[in-house]
Amino acid sequence: MLLTGIHILLTLKCTNECDHCFLHCGPGREATFTITQLRCLIGEIQKLRTAEIVYFEGGEPFLFYPLLLEGLRMVRAAGLDAGIVTNGYWATSVEDGMHWLKPIRDLGIVDFSVSDDEFHRCDNKDQRAEFARQAAQGLGIPTATICIESPSVSLQAGEGQRRNPVVVGGRVLFKGRAAEKLTVGLPVRRCEEFTTCPHEDLLSPKRVHVDAYGNVHLCQGLSMGNIWQTPLPDLVRQYDAQQHPIAGPLLRGGPARLAMEHSLAMNDSYVDACHLCYTARKLLVPHYPQYLAPREVYGL
Ligand code: SF4
Repeated sequence: MLLTGIHILLTLKCTNECDHCFLHCGPGREATFTITQLRCLIGEIQKLRTAEIVYFEGGEPFLFYPLLLEGLRMVRAAGLDAGIVTNGYWATSVEDGMHWLKPIRDLGIVDFSVSDDEFHRCDNKDQRAEFARQAAQGLGIPTATICIESPSVSLQAGEGQRRNPVVVGGRVLFKGRAAEKLTVGLPVRRCEEFTTCPHEDLLSPKRVHVDAYGNVHLCQGLSMGNIWQTPLPDLVRQYDAQQHPIAGPLLRGGPARLAMEHSLAMNDSYVDACHLCYTARKLLVPHYPQYLAPREVYGL
C-alpha cells in the first residue's frame, strides 16, 4: 500500500450539523485530538516514508485554532505538504480572515479548501465562507471551493419509450447523515446492481482519514484498524483487504456482496451503492465494533 495522503479529522465537533455530512459531525461531538496524540500521529506519518501531504479537517478544525497551528507546524517541520478544509465560520470580514490566516500562510500550505454551499450557509446573507476565501487569496494561499448541492432527479431514456428517473448532480454521497436525511423520495435501484464500491480504493488506498479515537478510515466509518493499538506503519504493512470482514466483501462484489455474505435482511432497493453500503454497515456495527467505528459516524 502506498499511502500518500493522510487526512486528520482534528475534531468531529463542528459549528454546523449539515444534512449531507457523512461523518455525522455537529456541535455536540467531542472527539478532538490532544496535542500529544497529534504529535504521536505526525511522528508515525513520518515513519511511513510514503506520505506526501497531510490535511487538517473535521468537523471544523478552526474550532481548535491553536491545535491546528501547532499541527501545521509539526507537519511542515516533518517536510510534508499541508492542506486545510474549513467552512470559514471564523471570517467575519476579509480583514478579520486575514488575521486568522497570516500565521498559516507563513507556515506554507498547498491547499486551503472552503466548503461553501447551501448546506453550510446559515442564510443567503452569510458571506463568511466568501470572506475566508478572499482573505486566503489576498494572502496568496492556494485556494479551492468545495460546493455540494442538493441531489436532483432527471429522466433518462430507458427501454422502449420508457424514461427512468435517476439521481443526478449535487455531488452528495449517500453515507452518514446524508443517507438518512437526503435519500427520502429519491429514485432507487435494485440491490443486485451495486456490485462495486464506486469511490474508494479499498485494496490499496492512497489516502485515509484518521480520527481522535485512532481509527484509520478507508471510507467514513470503515476502519482498517486503530493507531492507538497498532502503530500506523505496522497497520499499513499488515492490512490485508481480502481478509477484512467489511472491505473484503466490498472488493469481491460491492455493497450487494457485503449484504449477502453477512446474511443481512435489506430492502430490495437503494438510491446508490453508498446508500446500501452505509445501511448494511450500520446493521453490522454491533458485530464489528473495531472495524465499523466510531459509532458517531453512524449516528449512534
Ligand atoms: S460503497 Fe461503501 S465503501 Fe465504497 S465509497 Fe460508498 S460507502 Fe464508502
